[in-house]
Amino acid sequence: MKLTLNNAVTQVEISGIRQFSYLVRDTPGACALTIGEPDLNTPDAVKEAAKAALDDNDTHYPPGNGYTYLLEAISRFEETAHGLVYAPEEIVTTVGATEALSIALSAILNPGDEVIIPTPAFGLYEALVRLRDGVPVFLPTEDSRFQIVPEALAAAITPRTKAIVLTSPNNPTGCVYTRETLEGIHRILRDKPIFVLCDDVYRALCYTEDYHSFAEYADMRDRSIVVQSFSKPYAMTGWRLGYCMADRPVMSRIQVLHQYAVTSIPSFVQRACVTALGLPTNDIAELFRKRRDYVYRRLRAMGLEVEEPQGAFYMFIDIRKFGMDSVTFCTRMLKEGLVGLIPGIYFGTEGFMRLSYCYSDQDLKEGLDRVERFIKSL
Ligand code: PMP
Repeated sequence: MKLTLNNAVTQVEISGIRQFSYLVRDTPGACALTIGEPDLNTPDAVKEAAKAALDDNDTHYPPGNGYTYLLEAISRFEETAHGLVYAPEEIVTTVGATEALSIALSAILNPGDEVIIPTPAFGLYEALVRLRDGVPVFLPTEDSRFQIVPEALAAAITPRTKAIVLTSPNNPTGCVYTRETLEGIHRILRDKPIFVLCDDVYRALCYTEDYHSFAEYADMRDRSIVVQSFSKPYAMTGWRLGYCMADRPVMSRIQVLHQYAVTSIPSFVQRACVTALGLPTNDIAELFRKRRDYVYRRLRAMGLEVEEPQGAFYMFIDIRKFGMDSVTFCTRMLKEGLVGLIPGIYFGTEGFMRLSYCYSDQDLKEGLDRVERFIKSL
């Protein structure tokens, strides 16, 4: 008897980032600069709110999209802090930004639809598109300082283009799209039936005053889908909480998918989400900005080519001059230099590697010393 599975699913493998991270973890004595989450604990006030909710037996099925008080809190927060106007009915709380991206793509993609993914990119997008029988169309940005070039975007669009993913600040580059870039993208897309998936999960970790989300273009609100997460700004990665916002007709479909996928997020975490939204994020942003400055200085002093990131907690380092592909380079650096960085190819871009600075000053110094020694040994 021959059993067949879903063809799209059998073609997608477990993320290369995870596999390489496990290799680093399992290499004795290795120092990792791989992880993509803040090395901080969830703030006490957030934990206390969840504990109190448990003690109050807030443990029953909540409404599918989230408690009304949470949807209202998100709606208020987005408008007052970020100028994005979404009614509570236009929001769904999700199992991290991951679920938000998953159901948003499910809601819009038919088989064969193309999704433009600027690369380097977080690997989840390609996998999600393929899992829905969509076609990822990659738009390289490594030769334009990771900014999207409007002409290149225009050339990537076909009659089958259904969506584009915009990630700013970006994983893995830390790039923040400039006003000029956003204007250029808007000029190309404004009269086209193409959805814009704004993955803004690193928005709170921004080191420039001039941050704007594409979602601010109100004339494209009918095609914009915003994805947010509690993971990074509040050190809540393990809570698995995020949300998605979109214009009513699109959101009503996303909410149906959410209901049949997970019913709802857990009940007793929702008060904690409101508490989190009330917390300032300047301190965490300042902490990562200082680390960014240190790591950037060190890498430049080693003679490595790297763009100064304006957000998130990653750097995407050019290793093309060493004449090795990124997996060979990173594997050798791990084995010989005992320091782990993620090969750029896992983000769709050869000739680079990703460093994460979610580590203590001491660990960053040790990791960078090892990178320096390895490079000198070549
Ligand atoms: N988008 C980007 C760009 C990310 O880097 C990540 C996590 N690494 C996510 C989405 C998913 O975040 P969450 O923990 O909210 O699922």
